[in-house]
Amino acid sequence: MKNYYQPEIETMPLEELQALQSERLAAQVQHVYENVPFYRGKMDAAGIKPEDIKGIEDLHKLPFITKDDLRDQYPYGLLGVPLDQVVRIQSTSGTTGRRVVAFYTQDDINVWEDCCARALVAVGATKEDVCHVSYGYGLFTGGPGLNGGSHKVGCLTLPMSSGNTERQIQFMEDLGSTILCCTPSYASYLGETITEQGRKDNIKLKAGIFGAEPWTEEMRRDIEKTLGIKAYDIYGLTEISGPGVSFECQAQAGMHIQEDHFIPEIIDPDTGEVLPEGEVGELVFSCITKKAFPLLRYRTRDLCILTREQCSCGRTHVRMMKPKGRSDDMLIVKGVNVFPSQIETVLINKGYPANYLIIVDRVGTNDTMEVQVEMTAEMFSDSLKEVAAREKELVEAIKAMLGIKIKVKLVAPKTIARSEGKAKRVDDRRKLYD
Ligand code: ADP
Ligand code: ZN
Repeated sequence: MKNYYQPEIETMPLEELQALQSERLAAQVQHVYENVPFYRGKMDAAGIKPEDIKGIEDLHKLPFITKDDLRDQYPYGLLGVPLDQVVRIQSTSGTTGRRVVAFYTQDDINVWEDCCARALVAVGATKEDVCHVSYGYGLFTGGPGLNGGSHKVGCLTLPMSSGNTERQIQFMEDLGSTILCCTPSYASYLGETITEQGRKDNIKLKAGIFGAEPWTEEMRRDIEKTLGIKAYDIYGLTEISGPGVSFECQAQAGMHIQEDHFIPEIIDPDTGEVLPEGEVGELVFSCITKKAFPLLRYRTRDLCILTREQCSCGRTHVRMMKPKGRSDDMLIVKGVNVFPSQIETVLINKGYPANYLIIVDRVGTNDTMEVQVEMTAEMFSDSLKEVAAREKELVEAIKAMLGIKIKVKLVAPKTIARSEGKAKRVDDRRKLYD
């Protein structure tokens, strides 16, 4: 069986890695120029010939691709190979209302599953493990990606998909699941249910790979405690393949981007200028091995920071810090930028569960923001006076974080809908009036 820790690639010295990227990039540019009329048109319009892109130093010359381009080219406009070579489609979950379809050849699927296999072995998975995949299956990439990776590693794979929480826990107990893969919000819900039902001792989980949505360090600590595991982050997006574009190693200090397949850049979202390492900006990816859906300089809208500092695990691939959220997730309330993750940090630090809903509205020309926060069962028994004091404390703590005063409403345990996939944290009612 192939070993999915590949030190010859994952710990490659930077110079060699960049030479490999350059070679693959030049070939990929040739491929898209010859096979995707959309790219040929864009490159011709910008006066760029494929020969002009000799290596990664020329990457900045290529035009960006945006989500709008993908929507305009739906469904086949960006296809890089004849349809008879395509074996699969996957589609975005439509979090931002723009559904996008991505295509894969069999080789593309292999690359994607290899990426997920690397993510699994990085957290200690072996063929002895029982890998419990509770990401959704179907068009969403979470289930199929981790399922494929788990097969490659040789784990006993449980294709649970999401939902039916009682059955999930039953299988965990009966089959001794050791690795859990799902969204962090579902992991948190599973943890809550297992604890409430007093079944933690029956669970053998040791690690979890959680991604597909933003989550904070505070939420990580919470999940690690309730499930008694190590919780690792994994990142990806359908357009670039799916989960496994980057993954955390055991150092839990940022996600290594699989640079032999994807070249990352950080740009200023307003000007498009490439920013130096260490600065926050929009993450842009170029796929250098995928053939059916070969996006180059794709703007993800995810905001984050890259670092090339040596990682204790020995991997040399660049790390991306937890994305702050997407530029589309950022709310502007009373003129101030607000990320749901900032609210989450405050709540968990103050001992609340990560079950909250942010409601933004507009009264006249004034924005209003209310955060509904679930109390724990112990808090719920407090007197009304104590609840009011708790609300006041949260208002102050959020004001210290964001600089604006918002409303906090504590609600009874279990009143905020739990998520089996990506959690919905924001209800922006202002959009109805715009
Ligand atoms: P959609 O764009 O409809 O949600 P995807 O399922 O392809 O479709 O989601 C990809 C997006 O999910 C990424 O662009 C990013 O915003 C988010 N995401 C994925 N993994 C993570 C992660 N580990 N941390 C934060 N955000 C993530
Ligand atoms: Zn590492």
